[in-house]
Amino acid sequence: MTTPEYFLEVHELKKYFQAGRPGIFSRRTRRVHAIDGVDLCLERGETIALVGESGCGKSTLALTLMGLEKPTAGRIIFEAEEITHADERTRKALRQRIQMVFQDPYESLNPTQTIGEIVAEPLVVHGLAREGGERQGRVVRALEDAGLKPAADYLHRYPHQLSGGQRQRVVIASALVLEPHLLIADEPVSMLDVSIRAEILNLLAELRRTRQISIIFITHDLGTVGYFADRVAVMYLGRIVEVGRTKEVLKNPQHPYTKALLSVIPVPNPRLRRERVILQGETPNPIDLPGGCRFHPRCPVAEERCQQDEPPRVTAAPLHHAACWLVSGKKP
Ligand code: SF4
Repeated sequence: MTTPEYFLEVHELKKYFQAGRPGIFSRRTRRVHAIDGVDLCLERGETIALVGESGCGKSTLALTLMGLEKPTAGRIIFEAEEITHADERTRKALRQRIQMVFQDPYESLNPTQTIGEIVAEPLVVHGLAREGGERQGRVVRALEDAGLKPAADYLHRYPHQLSGGQRQRVVIASALVLEPHLLIADEPVSMLDVSIRAEILNLLAELRRTRQISIIFITHDLGTVGYFADRVAVMYLGRIVEVGRTKEVLKNPQHPYTKALLSVIPVPNPRLRRERVILQGETPNPIDLPGGCRFHPRCPVAEERCQQDEPPRVTAAPLHHAACWLVSGKKP
């Protein structure tokens, strides 16, 4: 086994779901290829944005990293510890170091608990900070780090007394109270008003700076990643098709899918506008993946070889590269 180089390493990770039972005409079990060979790495204190359309597998990847879904194949190494098939006890301990922020602050909070009780609950579940004063101190610090200052104004309120942005800050405080090393934020701003989104993105950037937290930021909106992500990984049909430093990917996208996503982001300066690329057709069914390059049915620049031969996958190394024959230049 090789020594891990990164804070988080994911190698050839797969997660398939069974899609119904074998039928009368076929004994073959049909499977949804939710994640289909993902390689990824993350450095301590780094933020990576995972971008793609809904159904591309980014949320399943997050749940698998959290241990809420069991991987079908592949490896996950976190802080030099193989956690791919960690048992429930190890997983529980890991959840102190890996926390998740879900997209819907309205569903995530128990309406019958006060904000103080909600933020303290992870400490209770993990049996941490048992002394009342210590527990209260951690709750106050988490709320204030999440931008709810002074915390005393919020401790005794209920979720329905807060705005959407404040509720999402409470969700973030509930994650922070355990002092995690990795935060997985799954579409944390998609349910919020546009006016509040920038505030929450700025908060995540601030937390990364002040608490040195690594962040996996999951979004369908490539337009939001320039705010604070160090690197971007673009996902399509269960695979990462392009990865690289945010500036490089936004300035010089290599994969036709990334180019299409970027081309439809509104840009105020007309000189910086790109030609719009509207992808034709629907995303293929993840049960019956197309042969060759899985993007070829929708790719505006597909060649004949793209239908038969799959381009090399992007690797876990933090280079700028894309899974496309036009980029790799290698003949199949
Ligand atoms: Fe398009 Fe072919 Fe590149 Fe796939 S390999 S993205 S089909 S050009």
